[in-house]
Amino acid sequence: MTDREASRIPLRLTPVRTQAGNKPRYEVPDDLPLPGSDSTRKLVDRFGRTARDLRVSLTDRCNLRCTYCMPEEGLEWIPTEATLNDEEVIRLIRIGVEKLGIRQVRFTGGEPLLRKNLGQILSATKILRTDEGLSPQTALTTNGLGLARQAAALAEAGLDRVNISLDTVDRELYATLTRRDRIHDVFAAIDASIAAGLAPVKLNAVVMPGINEDGLVDLTRYALRTGAQLRFIEQMPLGPRDQWGRADMVTAEDLLRMLRFEFDLTPASEPRGSAPAALWNITDGSLHGRIGIIASVTHPFCGDCDRTRLTTDGAIRNCLFAAQDAELSLRDLMRAGATDDELATAWASAMWVKKPGHGIDDEGFLQPDRPMSAIGG
Ligand code: SAM
Ligand code: SF4
Repeated sequence: MTDREASRIPLRLTPVRTQAGNKPRYEVPDDLPLPGSDSTRKLVDRFGRTARDLRVSLTDRCNLRCTYCMPEEGLEWIPTEATLNDEEVIRLIRIGVEKLGIRQVRFTGGEPLLRKNLGQILSATKILRTDEGLSPQTALTTNGLGLARQAAALAEAGLDRVNISLDTVDRELYATLTRRDRIHDVFAAIDASIAAGLAPVKLNAVVMPGINEDGLVDLTRYALRTGAQLRFIEQMPLGPRDQWGRADMVTAEDLLRMLRFEFDLTPASEPRGSAPAALWNITDGSLHGRIGIIASVTHPFCGDCDRTRLTTDGAIRNCLFAAQDAELSLRDLMRAGATDDELATAWASAMWVKKPGHGIDDEGFLQPDRPMSAIGG
């Protein structure tokens, strides 16, 4: 038997019917490094990138309806039985951390605060140890609704950091953009997160042409006053299909030009590494702080990407923009009786075939068929 044939043996994942009625689909790429080799103890790909940052979508549901993310109504939710239960999600996180080199776990969605037992999932994650004996870093990306009440308890349960989405400080515009009049809940969430020590508290703002552009200076001043780190994100083609046009995007360059009229900006000295945001030191009179600019469309950071994504229904996505038929359902393999080692090898295979880039800025780019809320932003 050749080594390559031997490498297929541990999988033994012949198609079987699962509770969800799907067949596990899984092929070992021919050039995948052998199980047990150093490369299969990490999530590497053919271009030499290593995924260390796991994004877990805990639910596709949400209590807001941001115009750039979800339609007002008519989005079909993933049925509960198709989503990972707590035990399944914790098992996959454990495999990622203990067997595959994951060092940071970020919980997202949909709205992750809507997930019952978020505290237990956090505690179960925090007690894991990487092969270097470290506990993984934990983070949450949230719209902040209800976080003011929970921030201290979540920090106690093992949450290290939080990113709160806030695209404007104007109450009316916030209500229009999110279709809910809840901006005061978000302000309270930011204060409570800072008080709970979830530092640095980061604010995510999607920059939308002709919509929130005019309020970005006020938003920046608000962040400077509170001590939160504001990150501007170029809008990506992930929401309702008629909402994005390459031609009328506000690019990172446009944004910097705009901010320089009001603030002193100097590039931060430390290298960006695999972080998506380019950091800038910002000064406004006596106030100093940091902002980040995430140019996902005009300056993609795919070459440095260190992410792997687990969808609400238990599929591995090696890229936010991967096609749905490129997902690998670990849920189906798990429910068909796969062992931890089999799941780890399947996960490694899904990452091995990651494409070099997302290609959003190419004319022929096709928007993913799944909404961001189901993939996990
Ligand atoms: N509900 C949580 C929240 O809003 O933070 C977590 C999920 S949300 C999908 C994650 C992040 O994706 C948010 O910061 C949101 O602003 C961002 N986002 C959603 N749609 C986007 C788009 N089309 N382009 C860029 N960012 C987007
Ligand atoms: Fe919900 Fe977040 Fe999407 Fe807004 S961006 S609709 S808060 S999932």
